[in-house]
Amino acid sequence: MTLVNLPGAPIVAKNLIGGEWRDGATGERIEVRSPYTNQVIGSVPSSTMADVEAAAAAAKDAAAKWRQVPIKERTQLLFRYREHLLRDLEPVSHSAAAEAGKTVAEARAGVLKGIEIVEYALSLQNMDVGGTLEVSRGVTCETKREPLGVVAGITPFNFPAMVPMWQFPIAVTLGNAFILKPSEKVPLTSNLLGELMIEAGFPPGVFSIVHGGRPAVEALCDHPDIAALGFVGSTTVARAVYQRVTAHDRRALCLGGAKNHLIVVPDAERDVTIDGVVGSFVGCAGQRCMAASLMIAVGDSDALIDAIVEKARSVRLGPDMGAIIDRAALERLEGDIQKAVDQGAKLRLDGRKPKAPAGYEEGNWLAPTILDHASMEMECTTKELFGPVLTIVRVKTLDEALALQDSTPYGNAASVFTSRGDVARYVAERVRTGMVGVNIGVPVPREPFSFGGNKASRFGQGDMTGAGAIELWTWLKKITTKWSLQPDANWMS
Ligand code: NAD
Repeated sequence: MTLVNLPGAPIVAKNLIGGEWRDGATGERIEVRSPYTNQVIGSVPSSTMADVEAAAAAAKDAAAKWRQVPIKERTQLLFRYREHLLRDLEPVSHSAAAEAGKTVAEARAGVLKGIEIVEYALSLQNMDVGGTLEVSRGVTCETKREPLGVVAGITPFNFPAMVPMWQFPIAVTLGNAFILKPSEKVPLTSNLLGELMIEAGFPPGVFSIVHGGRPAVEALCDHPDIAALGFVGSTTVARAVYQRVTAHDRRALCLGGAKNHLIVVPDAERDVTIDGVVGSFVGCAGQRCMAASLMIAVGDSDALIDAIVEKARSVRLGPDMGAIIDRAALERLEGDIQKAVDQGAKLRLDGRKPKAPAGYEEGNWLAPTILDHASMEMECTTKELFGPVLTIVRVKTLDEALALQDSTPYGNAASVFTSRGDVARYVAERVRTGMVGVNIGVPVPREPFSFGGNKASRFGQGDMTGAGAIELWTWLKKITTKWSLQPDANWMS
């Protein structure tokens, strides 16, 4: 059974600079492997400051002209881009699945979510993002949002199309030139997005791609012409990138890792909870910043947990759940599971060394795993594992559950499963996460509601999508004008 279309031959991908596909300055390349088979499916330049310099110079020229184009005209190109994305939905989804290890259905959902951001960006042309008021006789104050110039985005491996599309459609529509540095683990889908941007008619330099790893990231952080940077990835790197960019007095919003809690109370509706919990921790093989990784079971939950274990056991590797991004991550996860067992957690479902889907035996497979009766002293309750591993902690009261939830340094999402409105409200008002779910395992806000966490899941102010993105990619200019000298005295005359 074919799970995903892999490229027939490795793709030799290039950087997109000034509207042209170019090799990297050093000639060094990074191999891309499919988590399904571990075969090399492509390679990208390992870019350095020289490549970032070239991209930034082309982007700077482009930005100067692009900001002069009225937003209504810029938006017309984005309409075309959306049409082309929908036309190429299948190849883009297969590319994302092939390099990230997702199922094609999950990858398709990610592209569609990216298209939803495009649609939000399309609506900006009709949004009044400024305002004017006569503040004194003959004197008006006006505010307007201006593009920053050249901006950049750095993205993680787990959503090859969606996370880049959280950023560039809005930034570009608002009049900026955007440089994308995709994850070197999943860079090939970005180039498909780049080809579609060219086909849509965006002028050379308005959208650029610089591939690579840490040296490319550091060059983007340090380049003086890059006015703002959006980052999505692990907390360690998010914090470092934020500190590096803001040390240069430039703007950054860096979203980091997560440890999301699902609080399940005894009155929770059984089937909704089982579906919500299992869907959340096995979706994208647990490699989502919104995945539930810790379930806090309040009161007697034995029957519910038994049902969750059985539902997770029925998940089929391949058709229902994809692979782990690479061998190193798989081995780390296997080690994390063993450590939890050694520390006293009860292994209810062991997904290690599963039977691989036929034809994909060389892939990185880990089946759903459930660790029950965990305690706060165990690493599995506090560390972001980033795989299909559910840890369960049992507590007696809702307040104990909330205290446990609050003890995490992360603040991306938390959900409560309950059939009582007062319980839902009690939890929603108390958790300090950026996103809260009620009877939903993956509480990702739909547009126009914005995406972003809190605490160590976010460095910087605002959100990555929705209205937060307008703040991120523009600055607010205030213009005060005296239109004529007024004969009657007032303090502004
Ligand atoms: P990562 O931090 O390893 O990589 C993210 C980006 O940073 C990549 O482009 C990579 O090239 C670059 N990078 C990696 N190490 C670097 C270093 N030392 N210095 C400079 N740059 C470096 O993250 P990942 O493994 O690709 O993605 C998974 C992580 O991303 C998880 O922690 C997940 O929770 C998080 N994530 C968060 C969100 C969110 O919205 N909060 C969304 C998706 C993923």
